[in-house]
Amino acid sequence: MQVNEKILEKYAELIVRTGANVQPGQVVQLTVSVEQSAFAALVIEACYRAGAKKVNVEWTFDRQSWLNYRYADQETLSAVLPWEEAKLKQMVQDLPVRIFIASEDPDAMNGIDPHKLSAVMQRRATVIKPYRNAIDGKHQWVIAACPSVAWAKKCFPELSDEEALAKLWDAVLQTVRVREDNDPVADWKAHTDFIEEKVAWLNAQAFTSLRYRSANGTDFTVDLIPGARWEGAGAVNTANGAFYIPNMPTEEIFTSPMAGKCEGTLVAVKPLSWNSQLIEDFAITFRDGRAVSCRAARGQELLEKMIAMDEGAAMLGEVALVPRESPVNRCGFLFYETLFDENACCHCALGMGFKEVLPGGDDLSVEEARRQGVNDSIIHVDFMIGADDLAIDGVRADGTAVPVFRGGTWA
Ligand code: ZN
Repeated sequence: MQVNEKILEKYAELIVRTGANVQPGQVVQLTVSVEQSAFAALVIEACYRAGAKKVNVEWTFDRQSWLNYRYADQETLSAVLPWEEAKLKQMVQDLPVRIFIASEDPDAMNGIDPHKLSAVMQRRATVIKPYRNAIDGKHQWVIAACPSVAWAKKCFPELSDEEALAKLWDAVLQTVRVREDNDPVADWKAHTDFIEEKVAWLNAQAFTSLRYRSANGTDFTVDLIPGARWEGAGAVNTANGAFYIPNMPTEEIFTSPMAGKCEGTLVAVKPLSWNSQLIEDFAITFRDGRAVSCRAARGQELLEKMIAMDEGAAMLGEVALVPRESPVNRCGFLFYETLFDENACCHCALGMGFKEVLPGGDDLSVEEARRQGVNDSIIHVDFMIGADDLAIDGVRADGTAVPVFRGGTWA
Protein backbone atom coordinates (compact mmCIF):
# COMPACT_ATOMS: atom_id res chain seq x y z
CA MET A 1 0.00 0.00 0.00
CA GLN A 2 1.21 3.47 -0.92
CA VAL A 3 1.52 5.69 2.15
CA ASN A 4 0.12 8.97 0.95
CA GLU A 5 -1.26 12.14 2.50
CA LYS A 6 -4.81 10.82 2.25
CA ILE A 7 -4.17 7.64 4.19
CA LEU A 8 -2.12 9.50 6.81
CA GLU A 9 -5.00 11.95 7.27
CA LYS A 10 -7.35 8.99 7.74
CA TYR A 11 -5.00 7.55 10.35
CA ALA A 12 -4.59 10.89 12.18
CA GLU A 13 -8.37 11.26 12.24
CA LEU A 14 -8.71 7.73 13.67
CA ILE A 15 -6.20 8.48 16.43
CA VAL A 16 -8.04 11.67 17.42
CA ARG A 17 -11.67 10.51 17.03
CA THR A 18 -11.60 6.81 17.95
CA GLY A 19 -8.42 6.67 20.03
CA ALA A 20 -8.39 9.87 22.09
CA ASN A 21 -12.03 10.73 21.36
CA VAL A 22 -11.31 14.45 21.72
CA GLN A 23 -14.42 16.30 22.84
CA PRO A 24 -15.36 19.88 21.94
CA GLY A 25 -13.67 22.35 24.29
CA GLN A 26 -10.92 20.01 25.48
CA VAL A 27 -7.25 20.91 25.70
CA VAL A 28 -4.93 18.40 24.01
CA GLN A 29 -1.33 17.70 24.91
CA LEU A 30 0.48 16.04 22.02
CA THR A 31 3.87 14.40 22.61
CA VAL A 32 5.71 13.76 19.37
CA SER A 33 9.21 13.71 17.92
CA VAL A 34 10.49 16.77 16.04
CA GLU A 35 11.22 14.35 13.22
CA GLN A 36 7.50 13.71 12.79
CA SER A 37 6.37 17.31 12.46
CA ALA A 38 4.43 16.63 9.24
CA PHE A 39 2.38 13.88 10.87
CA ALA A 40 2.04 16.03 14.02
CA ALA A 41 0.41 18.73 11.89
CA LEU A 42 -2.19 16.23 10.66
CA VAL A 43 -2.96 15.19 14.23
CA ILE A 44 -3.18 18.80 15.44
CA GLU A 45 -5.58 19.66 12.64
CA ALA A 46 -7.70 16.58 13.36
CA CYS A 47 -7.91 17.71 17.02
CA TYR A 48 -9.21 21.13 16.00
CA ARG A 49 -11.67 19.51 13.59
CA ALA A 50 -12.92 17.50 16.58
CA GLY A 51 -13.47 20.76 18.49
CA ALA A 52 -10.32 20.98 20.62
CA LYS A 53 -9.94 24.27 22.45
CA LYS A 54 -6.15 24.28 22.24
CA VAL A 55 -3.43 21.82 21.22
CA ASN A 56 -0.09 22.03 23.02
CA VAL A 57 2.88 20.07 21.75
CA GLU A 58 5.73 18.53 23.72
CA TRP A 59 8.46 17.97 21.14
CA THR A 60 10.88 15.15 21.77
CA PHE A 61 14.21 14.60 20.03
CA ASP A 62 16.12 11.31 20.31
CA ARG A 63 19.48 12.90 19.57
CA GLN A 64 19.00 15.58 22.22
CA SER A 65 18.21 12.92 24.83
CA TRP A 66 21.29 10.98 23.81
CA LEU A 67 23.54 14.05 24.02
CA ASN A 68 22.10 15.00 27.40
CA TYR A 69 22.82 11.55 28.79
CA ARG A 70 26.24 11.57 27.20
CA TYR A 71 27.38 14.93 28.58
CA ALA A 72 25.22 16.04 31.51
CA ASP A 73 25.81 14.48 34.92
CA GLN A 74 23.41 12.13 36.65
CA GLU A 75 22.50 14.61 39.39
CA THR A 76 21.51 17.28 36.86
CA LEU A 77 19.50 14.86 34.74
CA SER A 78 17.67 13.45 37.77
CA ALA A 79 16.38 16.82 38.95
CA VAL A 80 12.77 17.65 38.22
CA LEU A 81 12.95 21.45 38.22
CA PRO A 82 10.23 23.68 39.69
CA TRP A 83 9.03 24.75 36.23
CA GLU A 84 8.64 21.11 35.23
CA GLU A 85 6.64 20.44 38.37
CA ALA A 86 4.55 23.54 37.69
CA LYS A 87 3.69 22.02 34.31
CA LEU A 88 2.72 18.75 35.97
CA LYS A 89 0.51 20.64 38.46
CA GLN A 90 -1.13 22.48 35.57
CA MET A 91 -1.77 19.12 33.91
CA VAL A 92 -3.53 17.81 37.03
CA GLN A 93 -5.71 20.93 36.98
CA ASP A 94 -6.47 20.97 33.23
CA LEU A 95 -6.79 17.19 32.73
CA PRO A 96 -5.81 17.54 29.05
CA VAL A 97 -6.37 14.79 26.51
CA ARG A 98 -2.92 13.30 25.99
CA ILE A 99 -1.82 11.94 22.61
CA PHE A 100 1.56 10.23 22.34
CA ILE A 101 3.05 9.46 18.95
CA ALA A 102 5.65 6.71 19.23
CA SER A 103 8.37 6.81 16.59
CA GLU A 104 11.50 6.30 18.62
CA ASP A 105 14.60 4.57 17.31
CA PRO A 106 14.87 1.49 19.57
CA ASP A 107 18.65 2.04 19.59
CA ALA A 108 18.40 5.73 20.41
CA MET A 109 20.17 5.28 23.74
CA ASN A 110 22.88 2.90 22.56
CA GLY A 111 26.25 3.76 24.07
CA ILE A 112 24.68 5.34 27.17
CA ASP A 113 25.44 3.66 30.48
CA PRO A 114 22.26 1.69 31.33
CA HIS A 115 22.94 2.25 35.06
CA LYS A 116 22.83 6.00 34.49
CA LEU A 117 19.64 5.66 32.44
CA SER A 118 17.81 3.61 35.04
CA ALA A 119 19.07 5.73 37.97
CA VAL A 120 17.80 8.92 36.33
CA MET A 121 14.53 7.28 35.37
CA GLN A 122 14.07 6.01 38.92
CA ARG A 123 14.76 9.39 40.54
CA ARG A 124 12.57 11.37 38.14
CA ALA A 125 9.75 8.84 38.43
CA THR A 126 9.46 9.32 42.19
CA VAL A 127 8.63 13.02 41.62
CA ILE A 128 6.52 12.60 38.48
CA LYS A 129 4.51 9.52 39.49
CA PRO A 130 2.20 11.20 42.06
CA TYR A 131 1.07 13.66 39.36
CA ARG A 132 0.45 10.81 36.94
CA ASN A 133 -1.49 8.96 39.64
CA ALA A 134 -3.57 12.09 40.21
CA ILE A 135 -4.85 12.15 36.60
CA ASP A 136 -5.28 8.37 36.30
CA GLY A 137 -8.76 7.56 35.02
CA LYS A 138 -9.70 11.24 34.81
CA HIS A 139 -8.43 12.03 31.35
CA GLN A 140 -8.39 10.49 27.88
CA TRP A 141 -5.13 9.38 26.33
CA VAL A 142 -3.83 7.36 23.45
CA ILE A 143 -0.50 6.06 22.20
CA ALA A 144 -0.19 5.44 18.46
CA ALA A 145 2.82 5.05 16.23
CA CYS A 146 4.39 6.91 13.35
CA PRO A 147 7.39 5.03 11.95
CA SER A 148 10.75 6.73 11.57
CA VAL A 149 13.54 5.56 9.27
CA ALA A 150 15.76 4.61 12.24
CA TRP A 151 13.01 2.50 13.77
CA ALA A 152 12.19 0.88 10.42
CA LYS A 153 15.87 0.04 9.82
CA LYS A 154 16.00 -1.65 13.22
CA CYS A 155 13.16 -3.93 12.13
CA PHE A 156 14.46 -4.47 8.58
CA PRO A 157 18.22 -3.85 8.55
CA GLU A 158 18.59 -5.61 5.20
CA LEU A 159 16.33 -3.15 3.34
CA SER A 160 17.05 0.35 2.06
CA ASP A 161 15.80 3.31 4.11
CA GLU A 162 12.80 3.83 1.82
CA GLU A 163 11.89 0.16 1.61
CA ALA A 164 12.20 -0.35 5.35
CA LEU A 165 10.06 2.70 6.11
CA ALA A 166 7.41 1.63 3.60
CA LYS A 167 7.32 -1.88 5.04
CA LEU A 168 6.98 -0.67 8.63
CA TRP A 169 4.25 1.81 7.66
CA ASP A 170 2.45 -1.02 5.92
CA ALA A 171 2.59 -3.16 9.04
CA VAL A 172 1.53 -0.31 11.34
CA LEU A 173 -1.47 0.56 9.16
CA GLN A 174 -2.47 -3.12 8.99
CA THR A 175 -2.41 -3.47 12.76
CA VAL A 176 -4.48 -0.30 13.26
CA ARG A 177 -6.94 -1.38 10.55
CA VAL A 178 -6.43 1.56 8.20
CA ARG A 179 -6.75 0.76 4.49
CA GLU A 180 -7.47 2.81 1.37
CA ASP A 181 -10.88 1.22 0.99
CA ASN A 182 -12.20 0.72 4.52
CA ASP A 183 -13.98 2.68 7.18
CA PRO A 184 -11.51 2.27 10.06
CA VAL A 185 -13.97 3.72 12.56
CA ALA A 186 -16.51 0.97 11.73
CA ASP A 187 -13.80 -1.71 11.76
CA TRP A 188 -12.64 -0.54 15.17
CA LYS A 189 -16.22 -0.67 16.43
CA ALA A 190 -16.51 -4.33 15.39
CA HIS A 191 -13.09 -5.10 16.87
CA THR A 192 -13.79 -3.46 20.22
CA ASP A 193 -17.26 -5.09 20.35
CA PHE A 194 -15.59 -8.52 20.05
CA ILE A 195 -13.15 -7.64 22.83
CA GLU A 196 -15.95 -6.29 25.05
CA GLU A 197 -17.85 -9.56 24.59
CA LYS A 198 -14.85 -11.57 25.80
CA VAL A 199 -14.33 -9.14 28.68
CA ALA A 200 -17.95 -9.60 29.77
CA TRP A 201 -17.57 -13.39 29.63
CA LEU A 202 -14.37 -13.35 31.70
CA ASN A 203 -15.89 -11.05 34.29
CA ALA A 204 -19.00 -13.27 34.56
CA GLN A 205 -16.78 -16.32 35.20
CA ALA A 206 -15.21 -14.71 38.30
CA PHE A 207 -12.14 -16.95 38.10
CA THR A 208 -10.02 -17.07 41.23
CA SER A 209 -6.88 -18.18 39.40
CA LEU A 210 -5.44 -18.95 35.98
CA ARG A 211 -3.34 -21.97 35.04
CA TYR A 212 -0.89 -21.80 32.11
CA ARG A 213 0.70 -24.75 30.35
CA SER A 214 2.86 -25.17 27.25
CA ALA A 215 5.26 -27.77 25.90
CA ASN A 216 7.98 -25.06 26.00
CA GLY A 217 8.15 -25.38 29.80
CA THR A 218 5.58 -22.82 30.87
CA ASP A 219 3.83 -24.22 33.94
CA PHE A 220 2.36 -21.47 36.00
CA THR A 221 -0.52 -20.56 38.28
CA VAL A 222 -1.51 -17.05 39.27
CA ASP A 223 -4.23 -15.91 41.68
CA LEU A 224 -6.62 -13.17 40.62
CA ILE A 225 -7.94 -10.43 42.89
CA PRO A 226 -11.52 -11.17 43.98
CA GLY A 227 -13.81 -8.61 42.35
CA ALA A 228 -11.10 -7.18 40.09
CA ARG A 229 -12.32 -6.69 36.54
CA TRP A 230 -10.89 -7.76 33.23
CA GLU A 231 -10.57 -4.86 30.85
CA GLY A 232 -9.86 -4.47 27.20
CA ALA A 233 -9.75 -2.15 24.24
CA GLY A 234 -11.32 0.93 25.73
CA ALA A 235 -11.69 2.89 28.92
CA VAL A 236 -14.00 5.63 30.10
CA ASN A 237 -12.80 8.97 31.37
CA THR A 238 -14.71 9.21 34.65
CA ALA A 239 -14.53 13.02 34.55
CA ASN A 240 -16.66 13.35 31.38
CA GLY A 241 -17.80 9.85 30.37
CA ALA A 242 -15.83 9.82 27.10
CA PHE A 243 -14.90 6.35 25.80
CA TYR A 244 -11.34 6.23 24.52
CA ILE A 245 -8.84 3.61 23.34
CA PRO A 246 -5.47 4.09 25.05
CA ASN A 247 -3.45 1.89 22.70
CA MET A 248 -3.61 1.66 18.93
CA PRO A 249 -3.24 -1.14 18.03
CA THR A 250 -4.89 -3.01 20.87
CA GLU A 251 -5.68 -6.71 20.97
CA GLU A 252 -5.31 -7.54 24.65
CA ILE A 253 -7.69 -8.22 27.50
CA PHE A 254 -5.95 -7.70 30.79
CA THR A 255 -6.26 -7.50 34.54
CA SER A 256 -3.95 -7.04 37.47
CA PRO A 257 -3.42 -10.33 39.29
CA MET A 258 -2.98 -10.68 43.04
CA ALA A 259 0.54 -9.41 43.68
CA GLY A 260 2.63 -11.94 45.54
CA LYS A 261 0.41 -14.92 44.67
CA CYS A 262 1.81 -16.96 41.83
CA GLU A 263 3.93 -20.07 41.39
CA GLY A 264 5.86 -21.67 38.60
CA THR A 265 7.73 -20.82 35.44
CA LEU A 266 6.86 -18.59 32.51
CA VAL A 267 8.85 -19.11 29.32
CA ALA A 268 9.07 -16.16 26.95
CA VAL A 269 8.27 -16.79 23.30
CA LYS A 270 9.64 -13.50 21.94
CA PRO A 271 12.66 -11.37 22.73
CA LEU A 272 12.13 -8.43 25.06
CA SER A 273 13.55 -5.02 24.31
CA TRP A 274 14.16 -3.05 27.50
CA ASN A 275 16.04 0.24 27.76
CA SER A 276 17.18 -0.18 24.15
CA GLN A 277 18.68 -3.58 24.91
CA LEU A 278 17.56 -7.07 24.05
CA ILE A 279 16.76 -9.95 26.38
CA GLU A 280 16.40 -13.23 24.47
CA ASP A 281 15.35 -16.82 25.10
CA PHE A 282 14.43 -16.28 28.69
CA ALA A 283 12.30 -17.75 31.45
CA ILE A 284 11.32 -16.46 34.86
CA THR A 285 10.48 -18.64 37.83
CA PHE A 286 8.22 -17.40 40.61
CA ARG A 287 7.87 -18.61 44.18
CA ASP A 288 5.47 -17.10 46.70
CA GLY A 289 4.56 -14.54 44.07
CA ARG A 290 8.04 -13.20 43.47
CA ALA A 291 10.50 -13.79 40.66
CA VAL A 292 13.20 -15.82 42.39
CA SER A 293 15.25 -16.86 39.40
CA CYS A 294 15.59 -16.19 35.75
CA ARG A 295 17.68 -17.40 32.89
CA ALA A 296 18.33 -15.73 29.57
CA ALA A 297 20.45 -16.83 26.64
CA ARG A 298 21.18 -13.15 26.13
CA GLY A 299 20.71 -10.19 28.49
CA GLN A 300 20.81 -12.17 31.74
CA GLU A 301 22.32 -9.29 33.71
CA LEU A 302 19.83 -6.83 32.28
CA LEU A 303 16.92 -9.09 33.21
CA GLU A 304 18.23 -9.46 36.75
CA LYS A 305 18.61 -5.69 37.02
CA MET A 306 15.08 -5.15 35.78
CA ILE A 307 13.64 -7.53 38.37
CA ALA A 308 15.62 -5.75 41.10
CA MET A 309 14.58 -2.20 40.14
CA ASP A 310 12.43 -1.86 43.27
CA GLU A 311 10.27 -3.85 45.68
CA GLY A 312 7.44 -4.39 43.17
CA ALA A 313 9.58 -5.17 40.13
CA ALA A 314 9.79 -8.88 41.02
CA MET A 315 6.00 -9.23 41.15
CA LEU A 316 3.39 -9.28 38.42
CA GLY A 317 1.24 -6.24 37.70
CA GLU A 318 -0.57 -7.57 34.65
CA VAL A 319 -1.77 -10.72 32.96
CA ALA A 320 -3.09 -10.28 29.42
CA LEU A 321 -4.85 -12.52 26.92
CA VAL A 322 -4.19 -12.07 23.21
CA PRO A 323 -5.09 -14.71 20.62
CA ARG A 324 -2.27 -15.89 18.38
CA GLU A 325 -4.13 -14.68 15.25
CA SER A 326 -3.56 -11.06 16.29
CA PRO A 327 -2.58 -8.91 13.26
CA VAL A 328 0.61 -7.94 15.12
CA ASN A 329 1.56 -11.61 15.40
CA ARG A 330 0.69 -12.12 11.72
CA CYS A 331 3.21 -9.41 10.78
CA GLY A 332 5.75 -11.94 12.02
CA PHE A 333 8.56 -9.64 13.08
CA LEU A 334 9.62 -7.92 16.28
CA PHE A 335 8.61 -4.23 16.27
CA TYR A 336 11.00 -3.33 19.12
CA GLU A 337 8.11 -1.30 20.52
CA THR A 338 5.90 -2.55 23.37
CA LEU A 339 2.81 -0.93 21.88
CA PHE A 340 2.99 -3.50 19.09
CA ASP A 341 4.94 -6.37 20.57
CA GLU A 342 2.65 -6.69 23.61
CA ASN A 343 -0.31 -7.07 21.28
CA ALA A 344 1.19 -10.06 19.51
CA CYS A 345 0.19 -12.75 21.99
CA CYS A 346 -0.50 -13.55 25.65
CA HIS A 347 1.79 -11.79 28.08
CA CYS A 348 2.45 -10.88 31.68
CA ALA A 349 4.07 -7.75 33.03
CA LEU A 350 6.45 -7.32 35.89
CA GLY A 351 5.92 -4.20 37.94
CA MET A 352 3.13 -1.69 38.26
CA GLY A 353 -0.45 -2.92 38.12
CA PHE A 354 -3.65 -1.08 37.29
CA LYS A 355 -5.71 0.14 40.24
CA GLU A 356 -8.64 0.90 37.92
CA VAL A 357 -9.41 -2.84 37.68
CA LEU A 358 -10.60 -2.71 41.30
CA PRO A 359 -14.19 -1.64 42.02
CA GLY A 360 -13.95 2.12 42.60
CA GLY A 361 -10.26 1.77 41.88
CA ASP A 362 -9.82 5.20 40.29
CA ASP A 363 -10.48 6.84 43.64
CA LEU A 364 -8.14 4.59 45.61
CA SER A 365 -4.68 5.71 46.55
CA VAL A 366 -1.81 3.60 45.27
CA GLU A 367 -1.31 2.43 48.84
CA GLU A 368 -4.94 1.30 49.19
CA ALA A 369 -4.81 -0.46 45.83
CA ARG A 370 -1.66 -2.23 46.90
CA ARG A 371 -3.34 -3.48 50.06
CA GLN A 372 -6.02 -5.04 47.86
CA GLY A 373 -3.39 -6.80 45.78
CA VAL A 374 -2.50 -4.45 42.91
CA ASN A 375 1.24 -4.34 42.52
CA ASP A 376 3.16 -1.06 42.45
CA SER A 377 6.57 -0.32 40.95
CA ILE A 378 8.30 2.26 38.81
CA ILE A 379 8.61 -0.35 36.07
CA HIS A 380 5.94 -2.05 33.99
CA VAL A 381 7.55 -4.46 31.55
CA ASP A 382 5.52 -6.83 29.39
CA PHE A 383 6.97 -10.11 28.23
CA MET A 384 5.35 -12.48 25.76
CA ILE A 385 4.44 -16.01 26.80
CA GLY A 386 1.78 -16.79 24.16
CA ALA A 387 3.15 -20.02 22.72
CA ASP A 388 1.24 -21.48 19.77
CA ASP A 389 0.17 -24.39 21.98
CA LEU A 390 -0.54 -22.31 25.08
CA ALA A 391 -3.39 -23.67 27.19
CA ILE A 392 -4.97 -21.53 29.88
CA ASP A 393 -7.60 -22.71 32.33
CA GLY A 394 -9.65 -20.42 34.50
CA VAL A 395 -10.29 -21.89 37.93
CA ARG A 396 -13.50 -21.03 39.79
CA ALA A 397 -13.83 -20.69 43.56
CA ASP A 398 -15.22 -24.26 43.79
CA GLY A 399 -12.15 -25.63 41.99
CA THR A 400 -13.72 -26.31 38.58
CA ALA A 401 -11.44 -25.52 35.66
CA VAL A 402 -12.81 -23.86 32.53
CA PRO A 403 -10.82 -23.79 29.29
CA VAL A 404 -10.03 -20.18 28.37
CA PHE A 405 -7.28 -20.66 25.78
CA ARG A 406 -6.34 -23.72 23.73
CA GLY A 407 -3.67 -23.77 21.04
CA GLY A 408 -2.78 -20.16 21.75
CA THR A 409 -6.27 -18.79 21.11
CA TRP A 410 -9.72 -18.54 22.64
CA ALA A 411 -10.99 -22.01 23.57
ZN1 ZN B 1 -0.45 -5.60 28.33
